[in-house]
Amino acid sequence: MNTMDQIKKTADVIKKIRPVYQPILDFYSQVFLAQEESRSHIELSSIIISSDLLAMKQESQLPLIDPSEFLIDMDETGVLFVKICDLARDLAPELSRGAQVLKGALQEKTFELETVITAILNNQDAVLEQQAGKSDVPVSELIFFTYSSMVPSLQACSEQLETYLPPLAEIKKGYCPICGNPPDMAFFDEDGKRHLKCSFCSHRWNVGRMGCVFCENNDKDQQLYFFSDEEKEYRVNLCDHCRQYIKVVDLRKMDRAFFPALELVSSLHLDIKARKKGYRNGSSMASDA
Ligand SMILES: [Zn+2]
Ligand SMILES: [Zn+2]
Repeated sequence: MNTMDQIKKTADVIKKIRPVYQPILDFYSQVFLAQEESRSHIELSSIIISSDLLAMKQESQLPLIDPSEFLIDMDETGVLFVKICDLARDLAPELSRGAQVLKGALQEKTFELETVITAILNNQDAVLEQQAGKSDVPVSELIFFTYSSMVPSLQACSEQLETYLPPLAEIKKGYCPICGNPPDMAFFDEDGKRHLKCSFCSHRWNVGRMGCVFCENNDKDQQLYFFSDEEKEYRVNLCDHCRQYIKVVDLRKMDRAFFPALELVSSLHLDIKARKKGYRNGSSMASDA
């Protein structure tokens, strides 16, 4: 079965066991399929890191690049942007107006996708606010549509950069070894090893088993969690030291194919519960729209 078929199948399985997520998954699974399809059209040159710089980065445990160094296939991102706007128009009522406004502005060239992409890569909040204001859409929607259409390029760069990382290394740090962004999910693989997934470039890394992934606190009294018997594959780790939480998927207790992006959007009830308890999560980009 190819990846596209697997995404569809897994989305159907989740819809069956958690019917409340049907409308959300109807939209997001189409977005993920469009991203997957877009991946095969991405054309980018390689990001080269000199051996001196690489040695320095490894020595100081620094990420390989700054997010501003990601390369983006602008043509393909533009195509995907329009596609995701159309999906939102048809399938996501709450995003529909913003989607149509942004698509219209892009086609009339009153909106510059490249400016927004650069602002996301460089963390320029003021530019994003200004661009959102110009089109009269919430900044969260501007970021959602733009970031979602950048994902195939970000993943392509991330996969290319993986070749610079030491093979099978356990990386103790709780930030992405490729781009330095925080994780938006943790998971235990079939062997019980803990991994994190980058909230920005989707890279996954093995991170050792114990303690808070954000602040490295490992005090038993400060490391809490909750889970529910109906969803044995999920648990949420809470840290009373830095007050952050992370959702954890245990692949040993899951009998569907694992697509982190699908699991993220179909476990929003866990985010709500964690936030109600007063915890926040360090990641952001895609999950807040
Ligand atoms: Zn990353
Ligand atoms: Zn912590």
